[in-house]
Amino acid sequence: MKIALLSHKGGVGKTTTAVNLAAYLSERGSALLVDGDSNRSALHWIERGDMPFKAVSEKAAPKFWSQFEHVIVDTGARPDTADLKDLASICDLLVVVSSADALSLDVLSPTIQTLQSIGARRFKILLTQVSPISRAGDEALSEIIEAGWPVFKNYIRRYAAHGKAALEGRIVRDVNDPHSTDAWSDVQAIGAELLK
Ligand code: ADP
Repeated sequence: MKIALLSHKGGVGKTTTAVNLAAYLSERGSALLVDGDSNRSALHWIERGDMPFKAVSEKAAPKFWSQFEHVIVDTGARPDTADLKDLASICDLLVVVSSADALSLDVLSPTIQTLQSIGARRFKILLTQVSPISRAGDEALSEIIEAGWPVFKNYIRRYAAHGKAALEGRIVRDVNDPHSTDAWSDVQAIGAELLK
């Protein structure tokens, strides 16, 4: 499966999710992570450790694209309409990453409109950095479902383990943190929805 993660707001957890999902997918077939972000944050993360998948820059991606069963593209911030058209034509699914706070949900609407206007039919919203202790995630999910937009039924909760994983160059499952298993179970749930 070839997917691209995109967001119209920085800091929502796009790269964090892309790296962990690449690890999840690499357990189910060969996986390639494409870092489309100009600051190369996914590549820097991966350089700090030893990952079970290959990672390349966007420029190098065409050489490897068809060699891998699973490809995850971590797109640059705020892709323009032309970028979205390109991604829609080469990916099975565009994953629109959003945090569950009102500010992010406000920017979802124009993003979805842009995707609809270019005829992208296969896209799905993924909520990240959801509070593990409030109902904010479920409320945001209901709001999105009411709007009639496709959304992952599971979401990625906010745990410090994710920040530690990036610092240590690991995937979240492998950090020494009381919530690393919870954090990894979120990734697994999203991965299972992807492959369903
Ligand atoms: P983006 O790629 O959308 O700019 P990042 O993945 O780089 O966002 O994450 C931005 C910051 O938020 C980083 O410090 C990262 O560790 C943190 N972060 C991302 N996802 C989570 C999460 N689920 N829980 C806790 N912190 C997170």
